[in-house]
Amino acid sequence: MNAFRADLHCHSIYSDGTDTPLELIQKAVAIGLQGLSITDHDTLSAYPEALEAAKAEGLFLLPGIEFSSMEEKDSVHILAYSFSSTHALLTQFCSAHHQRRKERNLAILDLLAAKGMPISEKEMVHSIPCDPKQILTRTIGRPHIAMAMIKKGYVASVTEAFHSFIGDNKPCFVPGKYFSVDETIETIHRVNGFAILAHPHLLSSASLMRRLMEKPFDGLEGYYAKMPKTKEQRWIDQGRKKNWIITGGSDYHGSVKPHIPLGVSWVDATTFQILWERYLENNESMR
Ligand code: AMP
Ligand code: FE
Ligand code: FE
Ligand code: ZN
Repeated sequence: MNAFRADLHCHSIYSDGTDTPLELIQKAVAIGLQGLSITDHDTLSAYPEALEAAKAEGLFLLPGIEFSSMEEKDSVHILAYSFSSTHALLTQFCSAHHQRRKERNLAILDLLAAKGMPISEKEMVHSIPCDPKQILTRTIGRPHIAMAMIKKGYVASVTEAFHSFIGDNKPCFVPGKYFSVDETIETIHRVNGFAILAHPHLLSSASLMRRLMEKPFDGLEGYYAKMPKTKEQRWIDQGRKKNWIITGGSDYHGSVKPHIPLGVSWVDATTFQILWERYLENNESMR
């Protein structure tokens, strides 16, 4: 029997991944993971089909999500875990995110068109193919725009699209309007979930990190993708000092980020159990 491993960060076709929830669950089982959380950006749409598939495959599937938020002008990703995936408050929060994203995506397309790179809304939405019934509830973001730019021959790769045009502060970047870090943590706590600071290794400055460390997070993502161990340790030590939960995951996106495989980062049974017990408690109170 393999030691217990759970990958707590990956994306499905319902945001900017290329695998369906069923494919993610089958891959997780095939590589010997016992636990998984699908953390799509600003949507829980994967969960109805994912929970059913996980049950059939005997995998522990922990409800999770990755929220986009802002601390003043800086973008901050916040992972949430252990809530009930049907909680109405979260569903409403996700709808508000989708409305804000729609306006922002169209503003980015306007900037690209002005630079001679027209992309229709339909081309953006369909740049990562999926089943028609999945399209309506999925989160569309910059990776979809990057994939459409490749299909139209404007760039050769997702990296080039971000680096030259749509990455933060590049010529066709629009920041968008997001909820603040405080509002996001508060929403997660209202549904009795855990609020975890995602990939602190990617934050833009040390002063931002210092401000975030004073927020009422429950943990941080210490084990991330293919981050070198020495880089991870710094954040793990900071989180432990606060008695925070240290989570981990691959941030697998399928062929949008082909160099990152599912399961490269994970948590052990002890950490998973803390998250799982809270989930059981929340799920029970919804019945
Ligand atoms: P959005 O949520 O629309 O702002 O898009 C952010 C997403 O784009 C992130 O979650 C990543 O999946 C992806 N992303 C951000 N920066 C880059 C980059 N430099 N190269 C490739 N993908 C990126
Ligand atoms: Fe993403
Ligand atoms: Fe992220
Ligand atoms: Zn992610």
